[in-house]
Amino acid sequence: MGIIDSVGTACRRLPATLFSTHRDAELAPVQVRVTLIALYSIVIVSLLTAPYNIVMDLREEEYFLAFTQLLYLGILISGLISFWYSGQVRVIRSSFTFAVFILIAGIGVGGGGVRGLGYLYIIGSYGVLFLILGRLGAMIVPALVFLAALLNIVFANYGPISYLNDPEFAVRYLIVIGVASSLGAVTAYYQHQVFRYFYHLAYTDETTGLANRSRFEARLDRQILKQHRLEFPGFSLVGLKLLDFARINTFHGSEYGDALLSELAYRIQTLCGNHGVPSRYSGTVFLCLVPWTEPYELEDFGRKLVESVQRTFSRGTQSVSVQALASVTIYPKDGDSGAKLIANLMGSFVHLRDYPGFVAFFDENLYRLEAHRYAVVQQLRGAIENQELTLRFQPKLLVEDGSCRGAEVLLRWKNSILGDIGPDVFIPLAEQAGFINDITRWVIRTAVTAVERVYRELTADVLGHGFVHAINLSPLDLGDPDFPDFIAGILENTDLPAGALEFEITEGVMMDDNPAIQRSLECIRQHRFRLAIDDFGTGYSSLSYLHRLRIQNLKIDKSFVAGLSEENPDSPVIDAMLAMARSLNVETTAEGIETEFQKDYLNERGCTFGQGWLYAKPLETESYIAWLKEKARSGN
Ligand code: C2E
Ligand code: CA
Ligand code: CA
Repeated sequence: MGIIDSVGTACRRLPATLFSTHRDAELAPVQVRVTLIALYSIVIVSLLTAPYNIVMDLREEEYFLAFTQLLYLGILISGLISFWYSGQVRVIRSSFTFAVFILIAGIGVGGGGVRGLGYLYIIGSYGVLFLILGRLGAMIVPALVFLAALLNIVFANYGPISYLNDPEFAVRYLIVIGVASSLGAVTAYYQHQVFRYFYHLAYTDETTGLANRSRFEARLDRQILKQHRLEFPGFSLVGLKLLDFARINTFHGSEYGDALLSELAYRIQTLCGNHGVPSRYSGTVFLCLVPWTEPYELEDFGRKLVESVQRTFSRGTQSVSVQALASVTIYPKDGDSGAKLIANLMGSFVHLRDYPGFVAFFDENLYRLEAHRYAVVQQLRGAIENQELTLRFQPKLLVEDGSCRGAEVLLRWKNSILGDIGPDVFIPLAEQAGFINDITRWVIRTAVTAVERVYRELTADVLGHGFVHAINLSPLDLGDPDFPDFIAGILENTDLPAGALEFEITEGVMMDDNPAIQRSLECIRQHRFRLAIDDFGTGYSSLSYLHRLRIQNLKIDKSFVAGLSEENPDSPVIDAMLAMARSLNVETTAEGIETEFQKDYLNERGCTFGQGWLYAKPLETESYIAWLKEKARSGN
């Protein structure tokens, strides 16, 4: 059973072993495969017939003929072995070419073989000759065969038992060889045409006539192989990305877009000249393989590419100019395989999407950063479902007397692969990736449930008046057209009063005239939830907008509070913010209070609430409730 199994496995692996090749840019993969099939067939036929012929030759004392047949077999087999070793189809093709010419010479000099029929073996291979010898070789060989047979007959150069001794047979034999050889040459020619047509279809970009992605990748692999075998000075890839090309197709039509593309391809090709190999890698990306590795040369080339592509294009009455950016990867510094070089080059385009006209070099650190961000986003997508998100409550106290008045709800994420990741990192990523809305809804629902528990577990006198829990919103939440419905739905599912919840928004949304944002804000106000401006003073605020927004609370960013100390005992900015809030009749919350000094300063100037490590760090629900109870018990 064991033996049968291993024979089975070996048989299954055999095709992979026999046909394993390096990619060759000059041959289509299907051509490589049929070429190898043709070669293996010829090797098998040769192994079956040549030994018999050699014995016949030796018996008739045709030593030269026997020697050339032996040489033919030897060259063929060593070609095969070096192909298995190198994976280069070219190796086996050249060794066969050499072997076949030796064979023709041998048969010709040896009088056409012992019986004069030696050429028939070569005529038998005309059908596949093109695959191995190419067009020229496959047309020359029939001519040579006919010539050799003609010379044999004209000079009556043949052995004693040759059929050619019969003059009538000799003439007919020559005619047959002539017909077969002419058709053989024609066959080679049309096979060449057919392959060329399919090759063109498969490997050329139809619009621009440049090499397409497959051809370029094969060319790149070949370059790397060359680099390994012979020590070339190195090479690089320069990529060019057209920006916003879809607009041109939309507003000028796809025919116009195609004409523009082929003009751009022409410009790129002209710049590459004899140095570079240009290709259209994808719809709006062109890649050039260039022989330089010095950054100043590459930068110069990249800049010229961008400039030439950005030059205005006119056709008929319409003129357009496209924007583009370039990026560079150098072999082997930025990738030791074609796939890696291209992936890194494409990665640079992603970082650079906002910098038209720029020539970027692949940056390993930037790549790692992007890869990390990507991994974070991938994990974050499953965070809610995998129950990896939790909430913390950071108590908010009246600065005046230190009594608790609620908390800010802060989100935490612990991922099984990436560990703890702070909201400062993952919230912006969730915003970019477009799923902050789901996260916010989860936060609001979970926070409401937790706050209900706080209300259940604490007595009314502890909760007192104005116990408020604040939830952070992203501008993207407010911009979500379904958000007003969601807000309205909150109160349907809870007994909490609307005033028990506050939404913290950033200054930016004040100025945003997006109607969806304005509708969400209006809905929050209508349902009598509280509104707070978060991180006040860090963005561009406008007094008139602040007034119009009708907020209840203004949160002084912790960066201003952090600046207060015994050495630095004054903050005109905080003073101004507090004064302004008072005149607008708005409560204030100072964030990030860490010292008594800061607390006293804020108290003296009438700041309403404070939160910070001086009072408490963000706490889990259990600890938060315990903290509240302990505070109530100790009476402060
Ligand atoms: P933020 O809204 O300004 O939140 C206050 C941040 O200051 C919190 O960081 C909090 O842990 C930290 N902090 C509190 N007291 C102190 C202190 O005394 N000293 C110092 N140095 N820091 C203090 P955290 O929790 O890492 O949150 C960072 C930011 O992430 C938040 O800034 C907020 O913008 C965002 N964020 C957190 N949770 C959510 C959420 O549920 N939704 C949204 N959209 N954003 C959230
Ligand atoms: Ca906040
Ligand atoms: Ca804040």
